[in-house]
Amino acid sequence: MSKKSSRMTKQKKTILDVLYNTDQHPTADWIYQEARKSITDISLGTVYRNLRILKEEGKIMELNYGSSYSRYDGKAENHYHFVCNNCGKVFDVNSSILKNIEKEFEKKIEGTVIGHRLEFYGYCIDCQQIQ
Ligand code: ZN
Ligand code: MN
Repeated sequence: MSKKSSRMTKQKKTILDVLYNTDQHPTADWIYQEARKSITDISLGTVYRNLRILKEEGKIMELNYGSSYSRYDGKAENHYHFVCNNCGKVFDVNSSILKNIEKEFEKKIEGTVIGHRLEFYGYCIDCQQIQ
């Protein structure tokens, strides 16, 4: 293994660890600030590149809410999110109601569902009080 590719592995691992150790669904910039604590000379470009690779490998999820920056999630299996319209925080939602949603849709369309996207948004408990 060349020096360059082992460096890549270390950077990739650091980025993964950053994501595994937060439930905040951070932006690339936040991940970059955290990764710098372990690898002082890491660049933002390297963080973006590794995030793309990790996403392609199915190890992380990218959450894109249109106009704002993408957020990243170390929990790669399908789960749902609630996004606060006021503070922008992203929360995991665990709902057993949604478990069979793809099967239900398949019955209706008589085709094959291979995935779905579903988003919840509104005001979180902190922001609700100031609305
Ligand atoms: Zn909020
Ligand atoms: Mn999540």
